[in-house]
Amino acid sequence: MKLLLTHIKELLQVRENCPEKLSGKEMKELPTLKNAWVFIHHGVIEDYGTMDKMGPHQGFKTLDCSGKIVMPAWCDSHSHIVYAGNREQEFVDRINGLSYQEIAEKGGGIVNSAKKLQQTSEEDLYHQSAARLEEVMRLGTGAIEIKSGYGLTTEAEMKMLRVAKKLDEEYPITIKTTFLGAHAIPTEYKGNKDGYLDLLCNEMLPKVAEEKLAEYVDIFCEEGYFSVDDMERILSEGKKYNLIPKVHVNQFNSIGGIAAAVKHNALSVDHLEVMTEKDIEDLKDSDTMPVALPSCSYFLSIPYAPGRKMIDAGLPLALATDYNPGSTPSGNMNFVVATACIKMRLTPEEAINAATINGAYAMGLSKTHGSITKGKTANLIITKPVPSYGYLPYAFGSNLIDSVIINGKEV
Ligand SMILES: [Zn+2]
Repeated sequence: MKLLLTHIKELLQVRENCPEKLSGKEMKELPTLKNAWVFIHHGVIEDYGTMDKMGPHQGFKTLDCSGKIVMPAWCDSHSHIVYAGNREQEFVDRINGLSYQEIAEKGGGIVNSAKKLQQTSEEDLYHQSAARLEEVMRLGTGAIEIKSGYGLTTEAEMKMLRVAKKLDEEYPITIKTTFLGAHAIPTEYKGNKDGYLDLLCNEMLPKVAEEKLAEYVDIFCEEGYFSVDDMERILSEGKKYNLIPKVHVNQFNSIGGIAAAVKHNALSVDHLEVMTEKDIEDLKDSDTMPVALPSCSYFLSIPYAPGRKMIDAGLPLALATDYNPGSTPSGNMNFVVATACIKMRLTPEEAINAATINGAYAMGLSKTHGSITKGKTANLIITKPVPSYGYLPYAFGSNLIDSVIINGKEV
């Protein structure tokens, strides 16, 4: 399949040699070509340039992109889109002032999502999740990471990861999987956290590794959930199976999780709503990507990750959705990018870099995703006619996507 996009008003994120990540001031720069073309062949970006220097491309399917912007599809490095059922009743209860405990008693919370998932067949879970995946693809996401963590039993955790793997086989979008057995302590282990950690280390991790169901290992490091010691134990254990750490830290409290994650060479540390000076210092000169999840802050009305401060301190930053039934029932990366500009004071250039090149880095896809570079996967967003790329986060409530190309094919 050959596809030629012509007369592109502006082609964003054009990099002949793309750096694997962008930090600090580098994030302000977004290289573009005006009045451009892109040629796609065998699912990869074969060539691009400006219209005055376009060679003879005949007999190919051609899309006229006059007035439109073309850019790399979003790289969403943090999601939980494989889950069963929704929790809109919990959302309404929260508006009506019910406490967390009261909501849990009525059937809310991670543990209750787990109960629902355990009772859902693998086939049903696949269909529910596929509908979400199709939606995010239409919204411009071309690569996504999916976590387990709503199973909390060996069988249910593996069911989630098998569903994620099957989605990867059936859809053109690139999917990376993460084992997040340490998401919450299941009811059966209430008051016996160490017993659950034993199960994770002695049964779940070996089985997940044996079936090659995950590339990454994650843990929710937070007061009332898992401690820094628990995190060190899980990450060390994961290393035995070559699972790379990506961790949930600093959502509500700073308890030393970032320093420990950096020590274990985590690929990313995610959430970061609460950051101390030391946390920022600990991330400097590391290979660990900080990942902010602004639509989670929006939905829960909690602070936003101090993205402006982190970038000004010279750090890189990635943006992701955290799509999940409890705290972020949205997988819209366009909204994430807009919210990062509106609430975290990122410039459009910084936000687009954070959601493309740095997002790709946070799921080990730097070589193939995140930029318009020859040889990279042809994952592209074609916008509707817009005045400029700054208009994309500015008009935050409008769907400005005309079409999406994933792996060289229109979705
Ligand atoms: Zn999450």
